[in-house]
Order: sequence, then C-alpha cells, then structure tokens
Amino acid sequence: MTTTRIAERVRRIKPSPSTSAADRANELRRQGKSIVNLVVGEPDFDTPLHIRQAAAAAMDKGATRYTLMAGTVELREAIVAKLKRENGLDYAMNEIIATSGAKSAIYNAFAITLEPGDEVIVPAPYWVSYPDMVLACDGQPVTVACPEANGFKLTPAQLEAAITPRTRWLLINSPSNPTGAAYTAAEYRALADVLLRHSQVMVMTDDIYEHIRFDGQKTPHILGAAPELRDRALVVNGVSKTYAMTGWRIGYVAGPADMIRAMDTLLSQSTGNCCSISQAAAAAAMNGDQSFVAESVAVYKQRRDRTLDLINAIPGLRCATPPGAFYLYVSCEGLIGKTTPAGKLLAEDGDVVMYLLESEGVAMVAGTAYGLSPYFRLSIATSIDILEEGCARISRAVAELR
Ligand code: PMP
Repeated sequence: MTTTRIAERVRRIKPSPSTSAADRANELRRQGKSIVNLVVGEPDFDTPLHIRQAAAAAMDKGATRYTLMAGTVELREAIVAKLKRENGLDYAMNEIIATSGAKSAIYNAFAITLEPGDEVIVPAPYWVSYPDMVLACDGQPVTVACPEANGFKLTPAQLEAAITPRTRWLLINSPSNPTGAAYTAAEYRALADVLLRHSQVMVMTDDIYEHIRFDGQKTPHILGAAPELRDRALVVNGVSKTYAMTGWRIGYVAGPADMIRAMDTLLSQSTGNCCSISQAAAAAAMNGDQSFVAESVAVYKQRRDRTLDLINAIPGLRCATPPGAFYLYVSCEGLIGKTTPAGKLLAEDGDVVMYLLESEGVAMVAGTAYGLSPYFRLSIATSIDILEEGCARISRAVAELR
C-alpha cells in the first residue's frame, strides 16, 4: 500500500469505531448470520411529517440554489430564537453559522483555532470522533478519564490538573454519548470557576442530546451558569437527534463573531453552504410543533427502562441509569478473565464485544473506542423487540462463559 501520498494529518487518524462495528455487523449479515444491531447512534423514527413537508415546499418554491455561506436568514433566525427560547442565550445573526451536521461544526471549530500542538481537553468516555478531529487539525487531544464513581463527569480538580499553557479548549458533551451523563448548573459553575483562572482556555459545548432527558430535568448550559465565559465559548448543536434528522445534515455553531467569521471563510473555501432544502426543513423543525420531541423521548425512556432491567439481570453485567441520550454504557468488568466455550480468554472489553458478536450476533461497540474500559455501548435507538432479543442473546452468551 502506498501510504506516503496520504498526508500525515490523515495518517494519524482512524476510521470511526462505531462505523467500523456497523460495517462488520452488516458484513456478517450479508454472510447470512442473524444479527441484532445495537451499534447505531441515530433515532429510528421518521422525520416528522411537517418537517418533510417544509422541505418539499422549499423545493417547489425554488430553494434549490446556493444560500448565504452562514445559512439562510430564515434558518439563522430560527436558531437565534431557539437559543433564546430553550437555552436563555442571546446571539445575533452574525454570531451563528449553519454547518453540514454538528460533526462538521466541531471539526471546523478546531480547524480555525488550533495551532500545531495546541491541546484540547476531552473528558473520557468521549464521543469517538473528538480525539481524531483534534488530531486531524494538528492539535493534541488530552483525554481525562472520568470514572463511573464520579458519574462519568469531569471534576474541577481534574480540569485544573489537565490545563497547561498550551490548552486551547475544554470540550463538553452533556448529556454525553456514550454514558448519558449530564452536568448540573452547579457542576458547570464549578468548572467555569477553573476556566476563569486560565484565560487561554475556551469552552466548546456539544449540546446535540440536550432534549433527550429521562429525569425530567431541563439540560442547563454552562453559559447559563457562567455568562462570563460567553466571549470564549462556542455552542454547537444541530437537529439530527432531537428531530430524527440525521440524514439531513444540519448543525450549527453560535459564538463570538470573529470565530464565526473565520469558520465562514474556511467553509466558503471548502464545503460551501449546507443543503438549501435541509436548511428549510431545519428551520421548520425549530419553529414548528415540538410534540415529536416529548413523544420520542417517552419512547426512548420505555426502552431504556426495559433494557436496563434486562441487562442488570445478567450476572457479570451492570449498568447505572443514564439520565439522558440514547445509549447504555454497560460495565462488563464481571466478565473480564472468563473463558469462552472455544477456550478464548476475555482479557478486555474488545474481547467481550467480539465474543457477543461471533457467538450470538449481537453488535455493539467496546469501551476502548470511548476511552474508558471495561465497558460496552449499547444503543437503545431501536425497537423494544430488538432490544429484548439482543438482551436474551447476550444473556445466553454470558451463561456459556466459564
Ligand atoms: N456529537 C455527538 C456527541 C454525537 O453523538 C453525534 C452523532 N453521533 C454528533 C455530534 C454528530 O451529529 P450530526 O449528525 O449533527 O453531525
């Protein structure tokens, strides 16, 4: 293989482990194996009808051309109103940019701010893409293990210890993929007090799961707890998870005008504006009837509760109740050191996940991918029937271990 014609910044990153796990599951399915896929991190619902209709109407009205780079006025007005209404945050039109998904928002935010070697603090477990995005932008991810004993959350002391003169960003994702952990306003205030002592550090919030909450709490924002951070904060969000719109590819960033302008410049010379039709749909999602949000969260909650009961009844597995997002981050510590019927030792969570896939066809992602072991991530964004079947298979496979 010729590797030298691929740039070093790309050679240092790897394909997304969740995409690889999904690919492996699909390959086994093609070979005729019965697979229960608990990998995918996207809503299994259709995009609500009124949103699809808004997209069709936009096409018919000729919204099929380039838009302003930062996004249509209609979409940015919807984002400004959303941030005010739902988060109590005030942003002007020139402080907003729409991107092709939150994923592109985060990547581009790093691209416009990181100098080679700049550090980004990434609390672990983290969404699989964060460290590789930092690496792809020549930065240095500094992962900080946040154990279950601390609710998988970063403590102020850990933050203080991780900060160096090279630290540029703290990246916060609450509720979190993969654990569902969510910070309280008081926890945010304590983290903000640390940040305020280090003027070189900015904070990026990935709020993509803010509405997927099972504990009746409204997700607070660090800028609500510490408005003083506004000039060094980027707020990243999108419509993918809240409105079952993963395929439409609309995310956005709110932040100080200079950073938004820099993103505008970079995007204008790379991907260009995001899809005009999707922008109309996203505006309709944010401006329109919100009942889908509560309805889908109620369904996720039933699935979460049922799956938690089934998982926690399996000897060797244990999962705390996640307050948000649509995943269970299951501890498999009790299986490490056991041996499969074929005589293979389960030395780490990757071995457990491989065994569950090969013995019973249950596909999930190992904790190593998220930076905290020994765990595996199970997505509940699928039907109760599939979740029950998956848990029955996991239970059978675990019973065979010695
Ligand atoms: N952030 C987190 C934490 C995610 O889990 C995901 C989707 N897997 C994204 C961002 C990306 O969202 P989008 O579809 O808007 O790019």
